[in-house]
Amino acid sequence: MKNKLTHPKCLRLPANPALPATWYDSRVALSMKPIIFIPLFTALAFAQTPAQLLNDPAVRAALEAAKRNEPQAIEQEVRLCEIPAPPFHEDERGKELKRLFEELGLKDVRTDRAGNVIGARPGKAAHPNLVFSAHLDTVFPEGTNVKVTREGTVLKGPGIGDDCRGLTVMLSVIRALNEAHVETPGAITFVADVGEEGLGDLRGMKSLFYDSLKGQIDRFISVDGTGLGITHIGVGSNRYKVTFKGPGGHSFGAFGMANPIQAMGRAIAKIDAFEVPAQPKTTFNVGRVGGGTSVNAIPFEAWMEVDMRSSDSASLKAVDTKFNAAVKEAVDEENRRWNNRGPVSAAAELVGVRPAGQTPKDSPIVQTAMGVSRALQIEEVLREGSTDSNVPMNLGIPAITISGGGSGTGAHSLNETFDTKDSWRGTQRAVLLAIALAR
Ligand SMILES: [Zn+2]
Repeated sequence: MKNKLTHPKCLRLPANPALPATWYDSRVALSMKPIIFIPLFTALAFAQTPAQLLNDPAVRAALEAAKRNEPQAIEQEVRLCEIPAPPFHEDERGKELKRLFEELGLKDVRTDRAGNVIGARPGKAAHPNLVFSAHLDTVFPEGTNVKVTREGTVLKGPGIGDDCRGLTVMLSVIRALNEAHVETPGAITFVADVGEEGLGDLRGMKSLFYDSLKGQIDRFISVDGTGLGITHIGVGSNRYKVTFKGPGGHSFGAFGMANPIQAMGRAIAKIDAFEVPAQPKTTFNVGRVGGGTSVNAIPFEAWMEVDMRSSDSASLKAVDTKFNAAVKEAVDEENRRWNNRGPVSAAAELVGVRPAGQTPKDSPIVQTAMGVSRALQIEEVLREGSTDSNVPMNLGIPAITISGGGSGTGAHSLNETFDTKDSWRGTQRAVLLAIALAR
């Protein structure tokens, strides 16, 4: 759909057209097909350009508040980040977010079944309902030292950028809107979500979109990491653990038997030979292998972990199909090679699915995000990535992930840093974008 942001007729249209309670087909939740459609109301709703919004005194006051409060926000970021949030154990940090949501006056603050902390900032109408989120979890296991240290403007600590920054920006947005008494035409639902990283497998988003807020979300933004990028392409992934098994035996005495590690070697060679499209970028990787008991034993077991990615659902499905066929062929070849003596078998367990999708560059939400960046003299950089937005993108709900300002290094490492220099610019952009999309 063509972007209608500047269509003069739009200026006179109501900002909150009535919406049906459920406007996307929930059945698509289980499919991997990208359903790209933009309901009519999204085109109607962006009545004022981001630059025009800057003429509103309340909007200007909110932006000033965002800048003014940045030093305290950074203090808060350090405190939040020193609460551990290992994968699948986000509850302690979640409790603190719940407390802060309540302290900031959000309504109906609750924790859903997955552990997402949800709070509402009602608008004049219930729709459009913008969900504004950041993720609670980190990649770091329990027991990791999460103390944050400082040197000048640079903070160092696990998760300080990804995604303590996002959580902080989200809280700053609420605070700025409150201090400036901004009343939005539509509602904003703030969510501190679980399971964004690794084998968390976007379980927070899946719970939010398929269950706790199913059918109630019109637009989605997540704030993730540092910098000033805008992610509008959601790279999907399928991850497998494949286990090869056979009876095993003595390397000399039982020679002539099929070998699980050798079968796996055949599979890896086939995977290595896959041809995949450069555009949309589609990838495969055998990331970990293991198995065997001794140099002089035919192993009874071997395993490998495989990751495949694409921003295009069909390309991801195609490489996935080739992968499953390669495993089967490798096992068949190995068994034929040894005349089915001590045959091996393989089982591929799907250990991760991150759905693919994208929000087109010319969609109103991406155009608004670019307009907001321009209005604040921020360079518009569009990117692709694997973030919480993958889930709504796959459902065809307008979604983007923005970075939280400042700059960072070493995400997902113990030496992660976040340089707070001018980080208020990221906060301001998030504030203006929230205002622009909640109408
Ligand atoms: Zn992240």
